[in-house]
Amino acid sequence: MRELEDGLAELRQTFKSGRTRNAAWRKNQLRALIQLIHDKEDKIFEALLQDLGKHPVESYRDEIGIIEKSAVNALNCLEKWMAPKKSRLPLLFFPAKGEVMSEPLGVVLIFASWNFPISLALDPVIGAIAAGNTVVLKPSELAPECALFLAEFVPLYLDCKAIKVIGGGADVGEQLLQQKWDKIFFTGSPRVGRVVMSAAAKHLTPVTLELGGKCPVIVDTLSSPSDIKVTVKRVIGGKWGPCSGQACIGVDYVLVEEKFAPTVIDLLKKTIKKFYGDNPKDSKNICRIVNKHHFGRLHKLLKDPLVAASIIHGGSLDEEKLIIEPTILLNPPLDAEIMTEEIFGPLLPIITLNNIQESIEFINSRPKPLTIYAFTKDETFQRQIVSETSSGSVTFNDTMVQFACDELPFGGVGQSGFGRYHGKYSFDTFSHEKAILQRSFFPELEPRYPPWNDFKLKF
Ligand code: NAD
Repeated sequence: MRELEDGLAELRQTFKSGRTRNAAWRKNQLRALIQLIHDKEDKIFEALLQDLGKHPVESYRDEIGIIEKSAVNALNCLEKWMAPKKSRLPLLFFPAKGEVMSEPLGVVLIFASWNFPISLALDPVIGAIAAGNTVVLKPSELAPECALFLAEFVPLYLDCKAIKVIGGGADVGEQLLQQKWDKIFFTGSPRVGRVVMSAAAKHLTPVTLELGGKCPVIVDTLSSPSDIKVTVKRVIGGKWGPCSGQACIGVDYVLVEEKFAPTVIDLLKKTIKKFYGDNPKDSKNICRIVNKHHFGRLHKLLKDPLVAASIIHGGSLDEEKLIIEPTILLNPPLDAEIMTEEIFGPLLPIITLNNIQESIEFINSRPKPLTIYAFTKDETFQRQIVSETSSGSVTFNDTMVQFACDELPFGGVGQSGFGRYHGKYSFDTFSHEKAILQRSFFPELEPRYPPWNDFKLKF
């Protein structure tokens, strides 16, 4: 605790010195971060392999590539983001000038989760640095090699008096939450999100909560064979592709019309075989489950007899290797845990509907998802999905890719969290937009001052 308080005092001192407000400092830190991930790419691959069995292609796509893209974008846009924005003022204020200037918040705390332990840790750090803050990053203890990597190398490349990595589990998280922060950015579960929010309330600290939930995929009845093939590949990419389903925006379940389901299921089975081979449990192309606890949690979901009876593909588990075969379930009971809790693993329930329009009511009767995916060419249905449901985002005819698009805000709504980041949105999340009004001494309007009279009332 003492060490933590000393570290925090140093961060406050650095912030107070004004060093981090400087555009040159911010750019140097962003360049140093890019250098770090270039120099230590192999170490990152190794850490991700150890923690999650992630293939280097997946590690590059979802972690290193994401960080490089975000840091380069921040570097290129920084001057523009930092520049004060002029505001048009009403004539009543004449003569006056108005502008909005983004100022850093101060010392910020960032909690990361384990499923993308490098990108979900460093992506918000990029926003915090770009906005001129000092930072404590708390990686997840469930990806220990990545946490060690960050603790060892971030201080070697970045300004260690301004950016600190503090490793540890929930106990360390709790100690951190006892401190006063100028912002807390949290990626994790709704359960811990509540803990974060109540700790933040004590100091009126603003929070961003990047949480999870169940992201549905609506698959409309498509007629073109090539569209169906693309749909199935993208559903698989969004379910098993990112960290074996252990992803907040991963596909949770599929909604499809009953008459179209056999076509989708048949192609899903064939494509899974093509991607992961005859024995997916031996495939190097699929991540393992992060630890025994989460393996047990997923196993428990399948043990429910009615759920087990709904398995139509896969279903085998290897407890020693912590691997679960890509598994498809057809119409498991809607009140079973697999349909009420976020799955966060390689199990894909398919829910059939009489009419695809029913998917809107299905989604609306559950907590608001982080993302809704929908494969459809029907523009009326697309508009209906956008206007009649609520979610952090909607992606049509693809999965996952919205995460890599810096021009769009990323964040949840309702139970999937609040606040947003990526690109300029990250900069704004870690800034205060300060309103500046510049007036002149002349003219002076006397009716604004007492004593009040009828003339002043009419003025
Ligand atoms: P988690 O909530 O268990 O842990 C997140 C972080 O909080 C970790 O750093 C952990 O050490 C810390 N922590 C845990 N208990 C704490 C406590 N009592 N006090 C203080 N800190 C504590 O979440 P997780 O298991 O790492 O991640 C899985 C969840 O995160 C899923 O729900 C998933 O959907 C969500 N998630 C969301 C996003 C997103 O961008 N929206 C991304 C990844 C994961």
